[in-house]
Amino acid sequence: MVDTRLIDGKAHAAALRQRVAAAVADIKKNHGVMPGLAVVLVGQDPASEVYVRSKGKQTVEVGMLSFEHKMAANTSEADLLEQIAELNDDPTVDGILVQFPMPEQISQHKVINTIDPAKDVDGFHPMNAGHLWSGEPALVPCTPFGCVQLLKAELGKLSGLDAIVIGRSNIVGKPLAGLLVQENCTVTIAHSRTRDLPGVARRADILIAAVGKPEMIKGDWIKPGATVIDVGVNRIALPDGKTRLVGDVAFAEAQGIAGAITPVPGGVGPMTIACLLRNTLVAACRRRGLPVPTI
Ligand code: NDP
Repeated sequence: MVDTRLIDGKAHAAALRQRVAAAVADIKKNHGVMPGLAVVLVGQDPASEVYVRSKGKQTVEVGMLSFEHKMAANTSEADLLEQIAELNDDPTVDGILVQFPMPEQISQHKVINTIDPAKDVDGFHPMNAGHLWSGEPALVPCTPFGCVQLLKAELGKLSGLDAIVIGRSNIVGKPLAGLLVQENCTVTIAHSRTRDLPGVARRADILIAAVGKPEMIKGDWIKPGATVIDVGVNRIALPDGKTRLVGDVAFAEAQGIAGAITPVPGGVGPMTIACLLRNTLVAACRRRGLPVPTI
């Protein structure tokens, strides 16, 4: 029986935001630069509105400029692409984030490809994805970057460890695998066609679940002592009619088996916005030829 530690994402995110705020104050003082993040929201998806508000508030709290562009749900693709082009040209904007999901008339692919890669703080542009895999300086997707920060804080060096990433989306699974390869892990990327997933998962020192299926990863899929990062966010209905958020990992079953695990909520989630702010700072420094702080 292992004594399972809880990885406190909220505390790690608060510490990262503090480091970003200190670096922002520093470049403001020494170079007169105030980084700016523009968030574009199309439509009125309630979850997206909450998320955008939270991003705006945290952006201001770390001392950056926050620009919000709200567009109607029936905005045409051409109008959105024009708005992005304006932000690409705006010198006060260092980072551009377009909140997904998009209404169906708009191609997510075109949106991602229109954002200037130097301002692509979500790290979704193919140029940044390519830079990540070729080991060049890149803006890296926020959730995967946050996961690696949590792993490093928990384990120190990751070099030589066996890692499994369950899920191969462009947003989470693939970039996470790329980052773990850079950290010298031996990485398995698993997905819906993986054979004997429990057996493959059981070999891993690091297990990352990014599937979107409530509590799919069972306790006996976890190698005793492994570090488990649960990216999944799933809302499930309870018998009393209320709902609850759960991850992709059967959290109660993982207790006593995993060496450490992130809770849902309060694990990976809080890191995502903190990493977005860090990316905006990185973009602001690179665009102006300033040294990029290592935070
Ligand atoms: P996607 O739906 O894009 O990808 C899911 C992946 O899981 C796919 O690669 C799919 O495989 C794989 N998968 C599905 N079913 C199985 C299965 N039975 N066995 C093995 N693999 C399976 O999801 P995202 O990557 O966008 O998100 C994953 C989860 O992370 C979601 O719950 C999402 O809400 C959450 N999330 C949380 C964030 C945070 O900040 N905390 C940020 C982003 C996402 P295949 O490719 O073969 O179909």
